[in-house]
Amino acid sequence: MIVMAAHATPSDLKAVVARIRLLGFTPHVSHGRERTIVGVVGHETDSDLEALVALTGVERVVRVLNDYPLASRDFHPADRVIEFANGVRLGGPEVLMMAGPCAVEGREQLEEAATAVASAGVRVLRGGAFKPRTSPYSFQGLGEEGLRMLRSVADGLGLLVITEVVAGEDVDLVARYADLLQVGARNMQNYRLLQACGAVDRPVVLKRGLSATVDELLQAAEYILAGGNQQVALCERGIRSFEPSIRFSLDITSLPVLKRLTSLPIVVDPSHAAGRSEYVPAIARAAVAAGADGLLVEVHPRPSEALSDGAQSLDLNAFSALMVEVGKIAEAVGRRAA
Ligand code: PEP
Ligand code: MN
Repeated sequence: MIVMAAHATPSDLKAVVARIRLLGFTPHVSHGRERTIVGVVGHETDSDLEALVALTGVERVVRVLNDYPLASRDFHPADRVIEFANGVRLGGPEVLMMAGPCAVEGREQLEEAATAVASAGVRVLRGGAFKPRTSPYSFQGLGEEGLRMLRSVADGLGLLVITEVVAGEDVDLVARYADLLQVGARNMQNYRLLQACGAVDRPVVLKRGLSATVDELLQAAEYILAGGNQQVALCERGIRSFEPSIRFSLDITSLPVLKRLTSLPIVVDPSHAAGRSEYVPAIARAAVAAGADGLLVEVHPRPSEALSDGAQSLDLNAFSALMVEVGKIAEAVGRRAA
C-alpha cells in the first residue's frame, strides 16, 4: 500500500502508477478526503518497495502481506497434512504421538524405551544422536552410531524415526537414517541449516527458538519452504519467561495464533517446556485440547540415570498413563491419539 504525501501532485501520482505498472504489478488508486492511497497487488520484493519509497510525493510504503507467503494460510488455506508410510499422518485427524529418550545412550536403553512407547501405541520414535547441549562438557550424543541404533531399533518395531540435525553439513547423513528431521530450538535461526533442510526430501519439525516470536518462527519455516521442501511442521516447546519455577513457559496461545496464520501442522513438546516430569501430563493435555497435531515427549526407562534431561523424562509407566489421558482429550476434541 503506497500512501501519497498530503502535498503530492496529480503528476506525482501518475508517475507512481506508471512505475508500479512497469514493475509488473496492478495499481488500485483510492482517493481519500486527505490522502491518496495506491494499493499494489503482486509478489513484491524489498528492492521493489525501496524503489517506490524513493519516488516524489510518496510518504510511506506499507507492506500488508506478511513475510512468509509460502507458510501463510493465505497461500494454502486448507490444513496441510504430512503423510508417511503405513498410514501415519501429521496434520490429519489424528494427534501424532512421538516419544522416546532425549538422547540415544546405548542399544539397551533405546530398545527398552522404544518397546514401551510402541506398546503404548506410539508410531514415531524420538531420540537425539546429535545433542545441542548448553555446556560443551555435557554428553553430546553418539552421532552416527546413535542414528544407526535408532534406525535398527525402530525398524524392529515398525516405528518411524524423528531425530535432531544440528548442522547443515549433517542433513544428508541424518536424512539417510531418519523419517523426520528435527531442527532444535537453539538452531531455529541457523539459516544455513534451514536452507539445507529445504533441499532434502524429508519432513522437518522446526522447533520454536527459546526467545523467538511467532513471526520469526514462521519466517524460519519460510526458509525451508522456499528451498522447495513443502513438508514442514512447527513445534511449540516453551519460551523464556520471567518465571523461574519452570524451565520454559509453554506458550499455549501460540497454537490458535499459529493455526490462524499458517496451515502447517503444529506439534507441542511438553517435556522441554516443563523441565520436570510431573508437569508434563497437564500441559500435554492442554496442548491437545488447544489443537496440537502432534506431541513430542521424552521417555526414559530410568530417568534418574539419564545422560540428558532426566528430570523432565517420563518413566515407562507414567508414559503409558499419559497416552490414556491424551487419548481421552483427543476424543473430546473430535480427534484420536495415534
Ligand atoms: C530435544 O528435543 O531434544 C531438544 C534439544 O529440544 P529443544 O531444541 O526444544 O531444546
Ligand atoms: Mn531433551
